[in-house]
Amino acid sequence: MKAVRLEATGQLSLRNVEKPAPGSGELLVRVEACGICGTDRHLFHGEFPSKPPVTLGHEFTGIVEQIGPGVTGFRNGMRITGDPNISCGQCPECQRGRVNLCTNLRAIGIHRDGGFAEHVIVPEKQAFVLPDDLDPLHGAFCEPLACCLHGVDLADIRTGSSVIVLGGGVIGLLVVQLARLAGATKVVLVTRSAEKRRLAESLGATATADASDGDITDRLTSPHGLLPDGADVVIECAGVAETIEQAPSLARRGGTVVILGVMPQGVKTTIEPFDLLFREIRLIGSFINPFTHRRAAELIASGIIKVEPLISRRIGLGEAVEAITNPARPGEIRALVVPGLG
Ligand code: NAP
Repeated sequence: MKAVRLEATGQLSLRNVEKPAPGSGELLVRVEACGICGTDRHLFHGEFPSKPPVTLGHEFTGIVEQIGPGVTGFRNGMRITGDPNISCGQCPECQRGRVNLCTNLRAIGIHRDGGFAEHVIVPEKQAFVLPDDLDPLHGAFCEPLACCLHGVDLADIRTGSSVIVLGGGVIGLLVVQLARLAGATKVVLVTRSAEKRRLAESLGATATADASDGDITDRLTSPHGLLPDGADVVIECAGVAETIEQAPSLARRGGTVVILGVMPQGVKTTIEPFDLLFREIRLIGSFINPFTHRRAAELIASGIIKVEPLISRRIGLGEAVEAITNPARPGEIRALVVPGLG
């Protein structure tokens, strides 16, 4: 079968590899779609640890084609989404219920072969059923949505809350939708692209602001701004120093800041501890998807989260290497690799 293999840092190629067979408790899944995430580009550049040689792709969905010995909950022909993050269940963090902080965490598409291939092996416990009549490409959004759900859970958004979302990529645009579903009445998305701002408004943002148009904190939280007291919750979804530094100043006194965006390891930014202390800002990091994948699958299956407008292009495996080794195209939200396209 064809697979996009990371051979070593900076070496990615489309190769013919042996079609895998499911072991005990595993499913062989024919991949219908797999999203290209910024992490895949970081893995290629060696900016995120992985275990090459390995097939990349951790945002996959597909059809069960073969079940391994001992599998009880699945049968051939079922559409599934895979939670790529496999925790050990035995380390102190797993035993505390913090499976995303597992010290032995391994991920499909990072440490073991992933979804930029015609087939992928998925342990039964990592698979969640999707409806037969779902658009096959939509299941590829379960993984990013599951990460956003964790962030929104940590933010503790209440009915009537105000929320500022920084960054209008796929994560920001999913968080906007989740914040509205959680009952926020004011959801302001800050991003530079006018197209993304229009899209955010069509997906439920009550207002948007251009990040490149002057001092965003002054504009949003001045006496004549949209939220003069600041927001109950600020969710950082850009992963750049500017927005990490802005986030606390956009929160109200006693407000919450959740950092979803990933900055490169070792890079430092400036935050004012006095401000965090004096205004009792809760600053929380949100890492991947502990126990949220099933809910993400339910949300995608229900159609309540709109993902079709987030698909910028569909490409075959033949184009995947070029797409992963180059930056996302201007304005691109999500490119999906669809092995069926060739
Ligand atoms: P993305 O497509 O790069 O989106 C980030 C967006 O931020 C960009 O599209 C850009 O849009 C906007 N941006 C850049 N600079 C900005 C600024 N100064 N002010 C406001 N907006 C700015 O990435 P993504 O896929 O949505 O992911 C977002 C972040 O979440 C990434 O860092 C990713 O690694 C991280 N992530 C974290 C988790 C987790 O578990 N915590 C899971 C998945 C992804 P404009 O051009 O419109 O400004």
